Amino acid sequence: MTASMPDRTGRHNLDPHLDRYAARTAGMTASEIRALFAVASRPEVVSLAGGMPNLAALPLDSLSTQIGELIAEDGLVALQYGSAQGIPALREQICEIMALEGISAHPDDVVVTVGSQMGLDMVTRLFCDPGDIVLAEGPSYVGALGSFAAYQAQVVHVAMDDDGLVPEALREALAQAGRAGKRVKFLYTIPNFHNPAGVTLAVERRAEILEICRTHGVLVIEDNPYGLLGFDGQTYPSLRSLDPDNVVYLGSFSKTFASGLRVGWVLAPHAVREKLVLAAESATLCPPTLNQMIVSRYLGTHDWKGQIKTFRENYRERRDAILGALEQHMPAGCTWTTPDGGFYVWVTVPEGVDTKAMLPRAVTARVAYASGTGFYADGFGSRQMRLSYCYPTPERIREGVRRLAGVLESEMDL
Ligand code: PMP
Repeated sequence: MTASMPDRTGRHNLDPHLDRYAARTAGMTASEIRALFAVASRPEVVSLAGGMPNLAALPLDSLSTQIGELIAEDGLVALQYGSAQGIPALREQICEIMALEGISAHPDDVVVTVGSQMGLDMVTRLFCDPGDIVLAEGPSYVGALGSFAAYQAQVVHVAMDDDGLVPEALREALAQAGRAGKRVKFLYTIPNFHNPAGVTLAVERRAEILEICRTHGVLVIEDNPYGLLGFDGQTYPSLRSLDPDNVVYLGSFSKTFASGLRVGWVLAPHAVREKLVLAAESATLCPPTLNQMIVSRYLGTHDWKGQIKTFRENYRERRDAILGALEQHMPAGCTWTTPDGGFYVWVTVPEGVDTKAMLPRAVTARVAYASGTGFYADGFGSRQMRLSYCYPTPERIREGVRRLAGVLESEMDL
């Protein structure tokens, strides 16, 4: 039998390795969202919790033929180790994709990653010492918060409104860090179709935010997995295109093609590129050659822009379903954002309701969401929740919101 060991907080824990872990593991805790996946995936529950892309529109037959051909024609390359930076053909195609959002980049400056999550991990590993401040929108992407915690960076949230990050709040956060004598390493931002807030950074604010960061010597990490999923086909000038020397850009094929292939990329200022490649090499030796070749072949042979348009139309229909249902069912006092792209609506509920405490009751009523506190590093967000409309059918979305509204109403009566 394994002895129960008291942990650092004095509680007993069955892990006999507890006193061996590195100090940095103290910040590694299970995300609230991941813990929820098991319950939320029961078929009777309408899950508005996870952000899984809806892949049903992918042409599986032609993909399977192409993958077969790829192995038959080029298997010995596809199944072999490759360059740490990623295969050159794909890096060229990635530059063409980024051009759609105004970025002019050289393939030599692109580093292919295992999803943009790996990019987040590498960037944090390269830039953050324990205690360094990272600025991030409040709320922010839960996976990024996980990486920041893993490297013991201290997250300071910067307020957003319907037009994204508020420049004045950024100035104030920088001034406060300055007064406290703290080093701010970077601003992490998701300018387009924000996860979880659903808003987009106004074009007029972009240059101002870049200017503030530049003046304060703060690097900008631009995370843009949803940029091509604007419901009207609209795109916005990427931060990287406006200030190439001070922005590290993270991209991904997870939302525009297939998340399970785990192919993303980092476009870094030239000076940073070499360190990034070394960090990538020490993490994975090289990204999976087969998956990169699948993406590259798909981009070369398939109407990928048409495919993205199809994805956009599917998500738009779901966005319309959720906004209509929220309007119809939600009790007075609830407010929500109006996304014009991406996967998420951010809902604020009336004072007195705690979305984390309410969640088990919602799951009993067969609807799940992600409660707001998971998107903050500082415990804020108890009156917020993220609803993802990307995966369920429009009918299920409407039913889910109806159930959620019922739970909220009884909560408000308590
Ligand atoms: N950044 C943001 C804002 C995301 O929403 C996600 C996925 N949910 C990621 C990064 C990670 O994406 P991936 O690793 O699949 O590329």
